[in-house]
Amino acid sequence: MSSTVDLRCRCGEVEGRLENAGRDAVNRVVCYCDDCQAYAHQLGRADLLDAHGGSDIVQVAPAALSYPRGADRIAGLRLKPKGLYRWYASCCKTPLGNTVGPAIPFVGVVAQAFGSPDEVFGPPVGGILGKFAIGTAPPGSTGLNLGLIGRALRKVAGWKLGGKTWPHPFFDQATRAPRYPITVLSREERDALRPLCGPKPA
Ligand SMILES: [Zn+2]
Ligand SMILES: [Zn+2]
Repeated sequence: MSSTVDLRCRCGEVEGRLENAGRDAVNRVVCYCDDCQAYAHQLGRADLLDAHGGSDIVQVAPAALSYPRGADRIAGLRLKPKGLYRWYASCCKTPLGNTVGPAIPFVGVVAQAFGSPDEVFGPPVGGILGKFAIGTAPPGSTGLNLGLIGRALRKVAGWKLGGKTWPHPFFDQATRAPRYPITVLSREERDALRPLCGPKPA
């Protein structure tokens, strides 16, 4: 069974749509890594982090995600020159999607962009990179969670084989180039965010 759900940035300028939304069609995990924390702080959106610094992320197929309204507000940020492409709405700094690039077809969307993520996707299946969590790491989030990794890899492989890369919400199909402007943080800018992030914020 498949359904379509809408998503939006906090201020409503950017509206997105996810096709084929459902528990089995996505991978919802909480990421505690210090890069995701730094990103939220850089955007001024630490309100999206949970008490342990976690980012609630819904991983979806690129072709299932589109931004029918306000796409001209989309901008990208990389924490370092070869870092993830982290796309956000420039109007209100809502994260819209994290991607490695078009070669690895997945987009991680912040769960809060969906109206009622629990209803559509069910709760997160687990947490990852808990070694960066603030305070006591949530159970199961530290160490190598092979179940979660396997699940994510199977999803990405399925999307790749199933032709779910294109059209991509953030990359041009013909040139493979990013469709929106990107800022890359300098080393100094990246380092300035570290005291704000786990596991032990200053
Ligand atoms: Zn992360
Ligand atoms: Zn907005």
